[in-house]
Amino acid sequence: MKASSVIKLDQAALQSNWKFLKTYFNKTKISAVVKGNAYGHGISTYVPMAEACGVNHFSVFNASEAYEVYEVASANSTIMIMGSLDEQDIEWAIANGIEFYVFTMERLATAINTAAKLNKKAIVHIEIETGMFRTGFEHAEIPELITHLKNNTDTLIFKGLCMHFAGAESIVNYVRIKKQKIGFKKAIKAFKEAEVMPETIHACCSAAAVRIPDMHYDMIRIGIMQYGFWSGPEVLIEYLNKHNLEESPLKRIISWESTVMSMKEVPPGEFIGYGTSFFSHQSMQLAIVPVGYAHGFSRSLSNTGIVLINGRRAPVIGTVNMNCIAIDVTSIGDVKINDTVTLIGMQGEHEVSVASFGEMSNQLNYELLTRLPKGIERKMV
Ligand SMILES: *Cc1c(COP(=O)(O)O)cnc(C)c1O
Repeated sequence: MKASSVIKLDQAALQSNWKFLKTYFNKTKISAVVKGNAYGHGISTYVPMAEACGVNHFSVFNASEAYEVYEVASANSTIMIMGSLDEQDIEWAIANGIEFYVFTMERLATAINTAAKLNKKAIVHIEIETGMFRTGFEHAEIPELITHLKNNTDTLIFKGLCMHFAGAESIVNYVRIKKQKIGFKKAIKAFKEAEVMPETIHACCSAAAVRIPDMHYDMIRIGIMQYGFWSGPEVLIEYLNKHNLEESPLKRIISWESTVMSMKEVPPGEFIGYGTSFFSHQSMQLAIVPVGYAHGFSRSLSNTGIVLINGRRAPVIGTVNMNCIAIDVTSIGDVKINDTVTLIGMQGEHEVSVASFGEMSNQLNYELLTRLPKGIERKMV
């Protein structure tokens, strides 16, 4: 059966990104964050590709993502769950050696009880609240936590002590980030003084890893950068200025392609597609492409999106439909059914980057990537 589009992942680009990350971060241990279906790249295709680049630590948000990683990852890769887990998930995680965050006393108790039942230790990362106000133990809870960790060494492995920054990608959060640093250091000190120390301390996501190198500790958790994107323009510009570079050293690994489904001649003076949002002033040649908002091509790209056909840029005409779009190819000429249409990626000299696609549709790279539906086939190239 012919799929209406395919997402291709470039192994050579990924190799280059991981080489850069390892060098740039001075060989600090890196966990590859693959939540959100590996930022839309597709966990089952992406994880083995990353392993081929020497990656052996993967972080996800919940148990079902962990399960997807577990199914394809090699036995010596570590999987860490940073967010949501119910009691059954905790049982599965402990039974399979999956590491997980603990940020409530309830989850800690469940971990201890379940580990005792299974006669297998729970490998936990204690998350500290430092000012993000999402998840994490308050400073006042640390003494009680330390007691539990000390008294339950038969069921718990205290693997990690961690936190998350609340917007390290933007300088406007400077004061808040600074407070978070102080809060985390204070927490580490409390654990040190009690002589209850984890194997791994970790705090930084991509933006923090670039901007706050004194907070790298034993491991950093890199999401967006491994896929070839920066957390935001400030981080990229700061990096380029600091290193006197013109171009990002990171390469996009994703491209998204479809093909022309049919061609349509439109006479002058007609409305095109649903409603009256586009009116033909001249006779036009349209290429109809079988990708729409149901496939993650946002409706807000109506009359503004750009795709590549025959190495040329061509605009989306009219509204994005659920399953297709119309592309104006009048000035390109010689477009035929089955010609390749690039929705994200390169053709010749031109590129539709997710960022420019993102700017056009007012979404961030993060959101746009993770919205690419799971149903689209991912192919390593
Ligand atoms: C998503 C996430 C990361 C990775 O963030 P990037 O900005 O993509 O590097 C790291 N840590 C936690 C807790 C996260 O939720």
